[in-house]
Amino acid sequence: MTIKDNIEIIRNRVYNACKRAGRDAEDVKLIAVSKTVSPDRINEAVSCGIKSLGENKVQEIVDKFDKVSSGVEWHMIGHLQTNKVKYIIDKVSMIHSVDSIRLLKEIDRRAETAGRVMDVLIEVNIGREKNKYGIYPEELMKFLNDAVIYKNVNISGLMTVAPAMDRLEDVRPYFKNMKELFENARALGIHNMKYLSMGMTADFEPAIEEGANIIRVGTGIFGPRNYQK
Ligand SMILES: *Cc1c(COP(=O)(O)O)cnc(C)c1O
Repeated sequence: MTIKDNIEIIRNRVYNACKRAGRDAEDVKLIAVSKTVSPDRINEAVSCGIKSLGENKVQEIVDKFDKVSSGVEWHMIGHLQTNKVKYIIDKVSMIHSVDSIRLLKEIDRRAETAGRVMDVLIEVNIGREKNKYGIYPEELMKFLNDAVIYKNVNISGLMTVAPAMDRLEDVRPYFKNMKELFENARALGIHNMKYLSMGMTADFEPAIEEGANIIRVGTGIFGPRNYQK
């Protein structure tokens, strides 16, 4: 299977999931998660119509940035340390992994210096898993209220990595829960909440059915990752 074939298959599955949910496939943004993938293979995906890339390490974004076709959007989807914000502030379109006010404050500060407003999502640990990042659901409303003073960030939605389940259907309640939180956050009316980033290779179909409008797919596009290199 080539990257081109994989993308076509993913796009078809997105289309069908949207159809089942009575949604427009145009409203679901596909981010190709390119962690561990070489610039050559990333460029192959870009030549097949991929417009957004997701990375989870600052160093990889910095290393690949100039080697990948210009005109693509980079999304930071992994845990971000405060002291590394400065390296990506002028490179990424969106940071999905905001999980503390301290990090938000640093993004705000660096964005101001860079003369831009950064789109960010708040990461929610919806499964309350010890080994995952993100704030707990009950912390969200206070977080959103505390965040209003930062003017160089645009809080534009929520992100989650759902628990891995043996049976795919068991993940659906977590996505439903996220959708509810998202609607509550929107109803607050103090931020421009537009995006619900959830769903990966294993679970993007139920995520779309439950309301995701950004999905992050790595393995399904590039094949299994090789962490050895
Ligand atoms: C790696 C990663 C993905 C993509 O995972 P796949 O299972 O390869 O699709 C999505 N989101 C985050 C935060 C990731 O780190």
